Amino acid sequence: MLSEMHVVEENRNITIGEQTVSPGEDKLLSISIDRLPTGTLIDIPIFVFNAKKPGPTILVQAGLHGDEINGIEMVRRMLAEKRFNVTKGAVIAVPILNIFGFIHFSRDVPDGKDVNRSFPGTKNGSMASRMAYHYMAEIMGQIDFVIDLHTGGGQRHNFPQIRYTAEDAQSAMLAEVFNAPISFSSKLIKGSFRNAAYRMNTPTIVFEAGESMRFDDYSILEGMQGILNILEHFGMISNSEPKYGERNKTVHLKSRRWLRAPTAGMFIPKITNGNEITKGQILGILTDTFAKQTKQIKAPFDGYVFCINHQAVVNQGEALFHVGMV
Ligand SMILES: [Zn+2]
Repeated sequence: MLSEMHVVEENRNITIGEQTVSPGEDKLLSISIDRLPTGTLIDIPIFVFNAKKPGPTILVQAGLHGDEINGIEMVRRMLAEKRFNVTKGAVIAVPILNIFGFIHFSRDVPDGKDVNRSFPGTKNGSMASRMAYHYMAEIMGQIDFVIDLHTGGGQRHNFPQIRYTAEDAQSAMLAEVFNAPISFSSKLIKGSFRNAAYRMNTPTIVFEAGESMRFDDYSILEGMQGILNILEHFGMISNSEPKYGERNKTVHLKSRRWLRAPTAGMFIPKITNGNEITKGQILGILTDTFAKQTKQIKAPFDGYVFCINHQAVVNQGEALFHVGMV
């Protein structure tokens, strides 16, 4: 009978370039960006998982900084373990945004520009600016939320942490749901992806975990679990088992401070990243090479250490620890 029939609403199509992914389809697409000087075309691979049932479209992206490989591994493992095969809404997964940086073991693109300072970009600008432009034009209009995966820059090791935008209540909510070991709001940086997404009213959280060019299994598992938490929260996955990790509530940091090297020397940390600290506690030492002078780096307040510089030889003023107060 007609009265008993109802129209089953479908999820929307996702179109990137000339390619469309209909509800119920999974596809590997790509955005063509530029050529290498040898003529080889470089494109950004984009996995689209579009469920039949309507729901939010979530973008999970890694490798915006080409040398920050933990996020790339998170996406790879979740693809291999079919954790993006959602039953509602859609996941767009970008394992390596900055392909050029990745193949050069570099944060930046070959002309030295940082893609994450080049948003929203211009069509005919520098390579970084054009990558940002195409990415925004092809993808961002179709996205409801973004999870942007990073690590500490250089040899700075970030304890798994979520950064959200204080002015955007939805990004604060996403941070809560992701439930990383540590969360805090941080200000928007000019030219960053998060800033451009904020201007498009697309809530974004940045997950920072581990350091560049090094796999850190704990960081990888924390990130994968956070992504699962978000997919589960929006009812996009029917089965969130097996879990990658278990934790109590995220620790919110209210204020943060960098502790810098009072002098040049060899830096020897005396604390494990992510640990609680008490005011006056020795976090590390800075020493000359002749056993003549040693300086202690002490905790300025009670709180947590959530970033440690793993560089052994440092210059005066270099950031050694990032510490925060609850
Ligand atoms: Zn980064």
